[in-house]
Amino acid sequence: MTLSLPQHYREILKGLGEDPEREGLLDTPKRAAKAMQYLCHGYEQSLDEIVNGALFTSDNDEMVILKDIELYSLCEHHLLPFIGKAHVAYIPTGKVLGLSKLARIVDMYARRLQIQENLTRQIADAIQQVTQAAGVAVVIEAKHMCMMMRGVEKQNSTMNTSVMLGAFRESNTTRMEFLQLIGRSK
Ligand SMILES: [Zn+2]
Repeated sequence: MTLSLPQHYREILKGLGEDPEREGLLDTPKRAAKAMQYLCHGYEQSLDEIVNGALFTSDNDEMVILKDIELYSLCEHHLLPFIGKAHVAYIPTGKVLGLSKLARIVDMYARRLQIQENLTRQIADAIQQVTQAAGVAVVIEAKHMCMMMRGVEKQNSTMNTSVMLGAFRESNTTRMEFLQLIGRSK
C-alpha cells in the first residue's frame, strides 16, 4: 500500500511522538503536504516552458546583470530551507532573454531539493543553453537552516558559491567587472 503525501506526514507526526488526532494537528498533514509540494514545484516546470519564446534578437553584446534575486530553496540533506540571493549575468551573442525569465529560471531550480553548489551550476548551464551566451556568471549567497538551527548552530555564516562560464572564466577583467557590479569585489 502506498501512502499519500498527507498520510506520510501523519506518520512523521507519530514518529515524533505526537498525537495526530489532537485538534491543532488535525489538518497539519494536509497543510504540510501542500506546503512541501509548493516548495518543490520546480519539478513540474521545464526550461522550455519557462522561457516560452521570450528570447529576443539584439545586437547588444554588453554584460546583462540581474542581481539580488531572492532565493528560497530546500537542502536535499535535511529538507530544511536555505535562503539568500542569486546574482546572474551573461554576455549576449545576438539573443537576449526577458529579465523576468532569468528570475524564473533561478526559481525553477531553487524549488527542488538541492545543494547550493548544484543549484548554482544548473542555473548557469540553463542560461548558457538558452541564450548561447559568450559567458555566464552565477553567484549565490545563502544561509542554511541546517547550519543555523541544528548541530553547529553557526548562525551568521553565509555560504557563497559561484559558477563562471566562457568569458567570465577566461577574462579576469570581465569577471572583476561582474563582481564589482554585484558588490562582491574588495
Ligand atoms: Zn542541509
